[in-house]
Amino acid sequence: MIIVLRAHASEEDIRRIEETLKGIGLAAHISRGVERTIIGAIGDERKLVTDLFEGLPVVEKVLRVLSPYKLVSRDFQKEDTVIDVNGKKIGGSAIVLFAGPCSVEGREMMLEIGDSVARSGAAFLRGGAFKPRTSPYAFQGLKEEGLKCLAETRERTGLPVATELMDPRDIDVVARYADIIQIGARNMQNFRLLTEVGKLDKPVILKRGMSATIQELLMSAEYIASEGNRNIILCERGIRTFETITRNTFDVSAFPVLKSLTHLPVIADPSHAAGKASLVEPLAAAAIAAGADGLMIEVHNHPEKALSDGPQSLRPEVFERMIARLKNVAEAVGRTL
Ligand code: PEP
Ligand code: MN
Repeated sequence: MIIVLRAHASEEDIRRIEETLKGIGLAAHISRGVERTIIGAIGDERKLVTDLFEGLPVVEKVLRVLSPYKLVSRDFQKEDTVIDVNGKKIGGSAIVLFAGPCSVEGREMMLEIGDSVARSGAAFLRGGAFKPRTSPYAFQGLKEEGLKCLAETRERTGLPVATELMDPRDIDVVARYADIIQIGARNMQNFRLLTEVGKLDKPVILKRGMSATIQELLMSAEYIASEGNRNIILCERGIRTFETITRNTFDVSAFPVLKSLTHLPVIADPSHAAGKASLVEPLAAAAIAAGADGLMIEVHNHPEKALSDGPQSLRPEVFERMIARLKNVAEAVGRTL
């Protein structure tokens, strides 16, 4: 249920409604917009008695939210969520770039890739230190040593770091080094993990599971938001279909659909969708045209030697040329890159 307050509502009015909700066992999530304050009443739907609030002079209207996700829905918040990370904005008119290798493989490569993607206009550095690998015998990531390489690269380039957290047991170490925590496709429905990152005061990139519907993605985002963390960035990275030529099928419809259903920023990861370096640029262009708020691109200085996802990784100079061309696509849809 959403309680929309009149423009003159005071802090005292808000507090009183919050108390009433608590009294009937519901949590109040408050969204202070420019025009008006909205209170989301979350909890057991049977306790949602609209008449308790409808008559109050300070209440403009009370709405039942029909979708199963509440806090992340456009009904709850009309304006786009803009996430500020060290002054860089995700979800505004500028399209943000996350770039870096699939896995952090060492200090030198991170510094070299970091320097080059920073020069090409990346706003954030990406790189996995804890890697979700299909085979237990494949490279699993450098763990804390990898996080240290990311931190050193951040210091040198000024680029904030996004890196994956796979297990609640690693949350402290990952949160110590990361500016943004990534939840990978394979963990999109790891509800314990979602609950834990929901308690953090750090933005989260939530990647769509490879067999997840858009509604399931939004329900997972709701898990995070319901714990208090509303700084969530959704990421379309391709879904599994009968097609095998591409690694995944890039769901371009996810951008306009998500932008209509949720206020959260939505970014695209064409690298994992494509699985092939040559397909990254057309998919990135399609994502921008369809309304993506950012791109996450895998870049490696020696893709042929990469310990993971080499075939889909772009060489730094290819990345640079791609970004130059994509600027025109962004401009065509009224955005900047
Ligand atoms: C990654 O970003 O390197 C990754 C493992 O992505 P996904 O979870 O989308 O497969
Ligand atoms: Mn990867």
